[in-house]
Amino acid sequence: MSAAGASETEHGQDQAGVAGNGQDQAGVAGHEQDQAGEAGRAPDQAGEAEQVKDHADEAASDRDEISDLLRRLIRDVHDYPQPGVVFKDITPLLADGAAFGKTIAALAAGHDRIDKVAGIEARGFILAAPVACLLGVGFVPVRKLGKLPGPTHSETYQLEYGTATVQVHVDAFQPGDRVLMIDDVLATGGTAAATAALIRRCGADVASLGVLIELGFLGGRARLPGIDVRNLLSL
Ligand code: AMP
Repeated sequence: MSAAGASETEHGQDQAGVAGNGQDQAGVAGHEQDQAGEAGRAPDQAGEAEQVKDHADEAASDRDEISDLLRRLIRDVHDYPQPGVVFKDITPLLADGAAFGKTIAALAAGHDRIDKVAGIEARGFILAAPVACLLGVGFVPVRKLGKLPGPTHSETYQLEYGTATVQVHVDAFQPGDRVLMIDDVLATGGTAAATAALIRRCGADVASLGVLIELGFLGGRARLPGIDVRNLLSL
């Protein structure tokens, strides 16, 4: 992404006082724990419940580990690319092989029947391609205006100042494909909403959006009704 392109879509944040509102595997874990705690189980059921609880505990502690990694390895760059913006720089995370691997595994985990992974230019490509490999499905690039060589669908959306356009090849998806969209940061949700519209215009279904960081205070998920929005860290 060019600095000029980035400057139109990046958003600042005030981390202090921002409440998390992620999807939360931990929330799922809590639910499973409650089930496991129900009284009057037969021995087999009790064993199963114990296993479910173990998995739930594992999922919750995995999420804590990943969010700690992200807090440590994603760098805040103040006033980039313009004054007032706090840019979430993922390059230290990408440079740490073990952390990068765990992050990709976490983004790929827990999805049901995905046919394609769509990466949003540009940092979304870096994350989506290995997720697609891990899931054993194809990768589709969602690109900025004018970058794709074949016939495309286009979606233009509003930015703080001006507009931006994303495109996808018209034959990138099969009708009925279930698509996982991936990006690094969910801010106002405009980019993800435009990407979802592109996918639907190809006749495919948007199953989920996976991001490393959701800037919850910008309310992006409200622009993505019906989409299972998952973050690894909510700020
Ligand atoms: P939005 O459309 O407002 O949700 O913005 C999301 C897009 O802009 C994503 O492609 C992100 O890569 C980028 N973005 C927005 N805010 C930031 C930020 N604070 N740091 C890094 N990237 C950001």
